Amino acid sequence: MSRRSACVLLFPVVFHYNVLTGVMVVTLRVRREQLERIIAQARAEAPNECCGMLAGHGEVVEEVFPGRNKDQSPRTYLMDPQDQLHAFRAIDEHGWALVGIYHSHPHTEAYPSRTDRERALDMDGNPLFPETQYVIVSLRDAQPQVRAFRITERQVTEEEVVIA
Ligand SMILES: [Zn+2]
Repeated sequence: MSRRSACVLLFPVVFHYNVLTGVMVVTLRVRREQLERIIAQARAEAPNECCGMLAGHGEVVEEVFPGRNKDQSPRTYLMDPQDQLHAFRAIDEHGWALVGIYHSHPHTEAYPSRTDRERALDMDGNPLFPETQYVIVSLRDAQPQVRAFRITERQVTEEEVVIA
């Protein structure tokens, strides 16, 4: 087993307390191997941000679709349209939904930046993907952090991440 995998395996099951409801609810289920792929991609593309899409049913991630970051930037991401198309086609073929959109923060915490929040909304301020979670992988600390959010015009709501 590589050192990288061993590090990832130290991940605990992560719950985030929902301050609005006071209830801990499972809202994103991602398998450890899927998470390892995302973290490996984030590390490979650092110092730039990496990005991709998570397909599945409801809260369950069935497949990870890595994408190229057209921005090639350490601060923003824009998933290559061809990679998006490829993912959306596979999602249609399998009858999946777009469960999540992920990207990395090589140097900052796993929280949506101002650009992340702006790009999650259309010109009228409505969420582009209302049912989709925004998953952020932070490489700031020795142990990567993974957090999930819903982004609307008025607020950023943290979702719970469970590693199955
Ligand atoms: Zn970001």
